[in-house]
Amino acid sequence: MAEHLIIDRNACAGHGLCYGGAPEILDCDDQGDPVLLVDPIPDDQLDKARLVVSICPERALSLQSR
Ligand code: SF4
Repeated sequence: MAEHLIIDRNACAGHGLCYGGAPEILDCDDQGDPVLLVDPIPDDQLDKARLVVSICPERALSLQSR
């Protein structure tokens, strides 16, 4: 099982807190929307991924095991 960071595009408001807080996991596109840089999330970045899930004000991020 691996952990994947899921972005709910309908919920995302493009604040940038996620890619600003975890630039090793997320970047942004030209519209300011988050783009995943790693998938699945490496074990040594799981704590950071959990952190960005918790700080997203729109609850647009989640971790999924599969
Ligand atoms: S913090 Fe949440 S709402 Fe803001 S850009 Fe990231 S996913 Fe979107």
